[in-house]
Amino acid sequence: MSSQPIKLNDYFSPETFQRMKAFADQQETPFVMIDTATIARAYDELENGFPFAKVFYAVKANPAAELIDLLRDKGSNFDIASIYELDKVMGRGVGPERISYGNTIKKARDIRYFYDKGVRLFATDSEPDLRNIAKAAPGSKVYVRILTEGATTADWPLSRKFGCQTDMAMDLLILARDLGLVPYGISFHVGSQQRDIGAWDAAIAKVKVIFERLKEEDGIELKMINMGGGFPANYITKTNDLATYSREITRFLKEDFGDELPEIILEPGRSLIANAGILVSEVVLVSRKSRTAVERWVFTDVGKFGGLIETMDEAIKFPIHTEKNGEMEEVVIAGPTCDSADIMYENYKYGLPLNLASGDRMYWLSTGAYTTSYSAVEFNGFPPLKSYYL
Ligand SMILES: *Cc1c(COP(=O)(O)O)cnc(C)c1O
Repeated sequence: MSSQPIKLNDYFSPETFQRMKAFADQQETPFVMIDTATIARAYDELENGFPFAKVFYAVKANPAAELIDLLRDKGSNFDIASIYELDKVMGRGVGPERISYGNTIKKARDIRYFYDKGVRLFATDSEPDLRNIAKAAPGSKVYVRILTEGATTADWPLSRKFGCQTDMAMDLLILARDLGLVPYGISFHVGSQQRDIGAWDAAIAKVKVIFERLKEEDGIELKMINMGGGFPANYITKTNDLATYSREITRFLKEDFGDELPEIILEPGRSLIANAGILVSEVVLVSRKSRTAVERWVFTDVGKFGGLIETMDEAIKFPIHTEKNGEMEEVVIAGPTCDSADIMYENYKYGLPLNLASGDRMYWLSTGAYTTSYSAVEFNGFPPLKSYYL
């Protein structure tokens, strides 16, 4: 498809881009720079859209201390997946009452570690894990993650590995009560970068059935719905804006639960921070595979292993800006390592300027999320992706 150049203004104001570029001009590529003011704005926008919800930042999206501090001061809570993330976040002065252990795959001794640190809110989706929680974190609140549909409309689906069927979710919540835990609520994640807002409608309807049936049949009154992440960032494939998501999702909630909503939790990762990032790389080579080949290959100094793993199956299409103007031509874009999987875009045809040459810079927009945290530490000796917080 498309060999149109992207419009920079669709992603960054000219002032913000110029300010970030001035910083970038002083640095060696590759690196990602994150504009923290953009994150603060995204946080406020989310709070305005969902004034009734509690935000738990999904730390895996970018665990930088600068961002933990910023979000801590904004009043955010934190969705944590490992003891390492826990130490990091608590090390920045976040109390255990602001933390949820959201990973359903965990060792019994790690559950105990969270419990000893004071965490009392745990996700689960299976009986063995629930029994571990009952033993290692007695009396805690648990919420059960359910499976959702929507994998085909999410650019980075998360919905198959985690969660259980509705019937099992109810069994687990009853068992939680019988094991002395607090059966607290239900969670779901409709898939990351979910373009179909209807995915939340379907998930909320499932939650409603569970709430009602547990109350009527078992006398269990659930208190909380954790709606996960899935809210959009700005990539090449357009989505609705966040205001449309919040308006529609609020309507779905009120249709099913009325005006007296249960406690609502959101766990944004991508939507909070992706738009704040610009990853800067340098063109290493532009080449062709034969004298008559029409296709150019653009090799750049960052690739799948240096922070762009979400280009796997070309799932996430990052907008790319260069400073060359002039005629555009379709290219294959690949990274610098000796692995043939290190090709970012081949089927989706990016248009890059014909006069693009070694040493030119490429600006990968909307790269604040899932880049530093996914970067390999030493593949082919390349160091992990550097990041700067402006
Ligand atoms: C990764 C993850 C999130 C964040 O999802 P985004 O789509 O990036 O907002 C939220 N909750 C859980 C449990 C996750 O694993």
